[in-house]
Amino acid sequence: METSLNQDRAAWLLGPPAECAVAQDGNSPWRLVLLGAPGVGKGTQAQFLARRLGACHLSTGDVFRAAKERAAREQTSAIAMALESMRRGALVSDLIVSNIIHERIGCIGCRRGFILDGFPRTISQAKLLEQLLHEKELSLNAVVNFDLPLEEILARLSGRRTCERCRATFHLVSKLPRAEGVCDDCGGHLYQREDDRLESIKVRLDAYERSTAPLIAFYRNLDLLVTVSATGAPEEIHARTMDALRDRMQPELYLS
Ligand code: AMP
Repeated sequence: METSLNQDRAAWLLGPPAECAVAQDGNSPWRLVLLGAPGVGKGTQAQFLARRLGACHLSTGDVFRAAKERAAREQTSAIAMALESMRRGALVSDLIVSNIIHERIGCIGCRRGFILDGFPRTISQAKLLEQLLHEKELSLNAVVNFDLPLEEILARLSGRRTCERCRATFHLVSKLPRAEGVCDDCGGHLYQREDDRLESIKVRLDAYERSTAPLIAFYRNLDLLVTVSATGAPEEIHARTMDALRDRMQPELYLS
């Protein structure tokens, strides 16, 4: 049974005072964190899960990309610093991320639940999330760790092309658009994200190994970790994820 994605993410993407237009009335909301190196496909899996579980897709990378689209004069110096780190492929500082999350605290407590994608990325961010959930008397259902061999990660990232209008992703080898450089979905221009260039990819993978990979042990210790192989087509990975989460899900989600 697929729950429709009848939600917007205004409160998440824009921060206060923006509010989501859709009523926040989810039943038995799901709260998941997605982990995995850059390029394993967390964003795509987050969209599948958000649709399937009716939860909101909360990506910190999307918050920064939305800020980038706003005029430079509307950006705070903290955001300008964050965008500079992002351009190089480096992690944005924990302080800036913490401010961004505090501004969006309503999204963490949202009654529709959430699929967190790209946050937390450091132990300090994971502790912040634990503290915020504790204050709201909420808990995570699971932390899904997507696993993929390094060669495949490199091939996926360096061939990825993104639509500048609707953000759909294509790939030079495995998912060619019908017309070169043009999005199949909206006709927008396809480009290579600055942080998908080889120099940035190296920095991102290094940041992952140093700062984010330790979260695997952190969440294993909390008995929340579920590891899923991220090889194959997105639909296969999604099916594998739902199987891996079976013990932690309501049975009605498996009816179709
Ligand atoms: P993503 O779309 O999740 O790959 O994020 C793109 C970039 O945004 C990352 O390479 C970082 O520069 C930055 N970023 C996103 N989320 C975080 C986070 N939780 N902590 C630090 N940097 C982040």
